[in-house]
Amino acid sequence: MELHGVGVGRGVVIARVLTMPEPLEDPVDGQHAGDAAAEKAAVANAVTAAAAELTARAEKADGTGKEVIEAAVQMAQDPMLADDVNARIDAGTTGERAVFEAFRSFQEQLTALGGYMAERATDLGDVSQRIIAQLRGVPVPGVPESDVPFILIARDLAPADTALLDLDTVLGLITRDGGPTSHTAILARAKSIPAIVGVGGDAAIADGIRVVLDAASGTVTIDPSDAQLADAEARIAARVAQAAIPITEGALADGTKIPLLANLGSPKDAAAAVALGAEGVGLFRTEFLFLDAQTAPTVAEQQAQYTELLSHFAGKKVVVRALDAGADKPLAFLNDAHEENPALGVRGLRALRAQPQVLRDQLHALKNAQDATEAELWVMAPMVADAGETRFFVEYGKELGLTTVGVMAEVPSLALVADQVAGLADFVSIGTNDLTQYTLAADRMLGTVASYQDPWHPSVLRLVKLLGDAGAAAGRAVGICGEAAADPQLAVVLVGLGATSLSMTPAALADVRAELAGITLPQARAKAAAALAAESAAGARAAAAAAAA
Ligand code: PEP
Ligand code: MG
Repeated sequence: MELHGVGVGRGVVIARVLTMPEPLEDPVDGQHAGDAAAEKAAVANAVTAAAAELTARAEKADGTGKEVIEAAVQMAQDPMLADDVNARIDAGTTGERAVFEAFRSFQEQLTALGGYMAERATDLGDVSQRIIAQLRGVPVPGVPESDVPFILIARDLAPADTALLDLDTVLGLITRDGGPTSHTAILARAKSIPAIVGVGGDAAIADGIRVVLDAASGTVTIDPSDAQLADAEARIAARVAQAAIPITEGALADGTKIPLLANLGSPKDAAAAVALGAEGVGLFRTEFLFLDAQTAPTVAEQQAQYTELLSHFAGKKVVVRALDAGADKPLAFLNDAHEENPALGVRGLRALRAQPQVLRDQLHALKNAQDATEAELWVMAPMVADAGETRFFVEYGKELGLTTVGVMAEVPSLALVADQVAGLADFVSIGTNDLTQYTLAADRMLGTVASYQDPWHPSVLRLVKLLGDAGAAAGRAVGICGEAAADPQLAVVLVGLGATSLSMTPAALADVRAELAGITLPQARAKAAAALAAESAAGARAAAAAAAA
């Protein structure tokens, strides 16, 4: 039997599956049968069992992970918490509900304290779920533990789950929900874990059953035959052989060069990206410098970070994005006004224009780093809407001494006037994550609309084509720096639509490089044309696969 979904990456993996239990329903607000002593004893036993489980977990962890778990064990056994639970049971509340309420009230107190204590509040929620699971005799929610490597099946993974994944034992991921830009897909791409997301409601596979997960075809084969196993093993061996091929520059089969660049969020990740063959940086997200800051970092502080980054790429292109604050990247000091729809609010370039000193300091720091190193620095603005905003940013950047200044295409309006913009900016870089969010009116943070968040949708591809055509007519570079560039089949289509470079999480470079090497430019264009004519994202995927194969 087979299941189908959206594959992330090209990997093939054979392993047994484990399913992540669903989160527990909150205990109903009910009264116990009258035996308070029995309820209290059951809770005490459950607390002891949950603490023992956590202690065993702490012994296997190290560093911060160990400390966090040990702190959780201590909180679980806090006498004040026990007193609160018991008082609630004495008042007639069931054990489950008493645990739920007492922990919730403690959590609220911790959250109000802020900082480190507020972070511990989340851990307390996890402890309470464990105790309630013990009381109900059901599996503990969260990532299952196993000493043997396995493929994890889940509804979808939240960021908190992905932080707990032990990447030595989780060989692959299968999710029922979630699209290509879900947290699961982003994690899988960044860590090179083969994944299939959005397989639908049928992903009920008993724990321990062996499957073949083939991300390239988006197929899960349940309980494979000997022939299917042999076939999967051959494909795994072929990928191992492919990984051993020396890293080359990104190019199509006919020699057309498509530079493959890295998306980075910190200078610390630069060396690893170079080792994976990044030919430069296509998107350096500068938000990390500003996160947690109450005020903007100084010019000198920023300059030191930019110089460190650029020093890894002498003679190569490094595209740095000006601060992109707002919506999914909230920065209180730049914009703390309440907005009903922050994704449609004062974010990106709009926020920078509202805080001219922050923009000025950042561009100054970049100019100084440009002068201090041998890298070819390109600077771009996020969330640019039209020609007027493009003109503002490009002229301002040049006035401050930057050599190459461009804009990101993330708002559909910019794509629709691409012909006006292409002559003004030195380059355009398409941020497909936001461009998809805005084109399909689907919040990228919202799981319930994840199926709309698919850059394969022909509407998004048509906007990319407008940008590609305008760039070609004006002789300007049009890069891609959203998650879409990391999907090998989509990368081919994007090149067919006119993308001149692709930037992605470094772990995806090898697969994209291999896919491009097997396709000529006319073939890529034929696939792009087929995808543009489709009526849906799934239709575009299928049409591209069938075209010029
Ligand atoms: C994008 O929107 O595609 C992009 C690359 O920017 P970010 O994901 O940082 O918003
Ligand atoms: Mg963006």
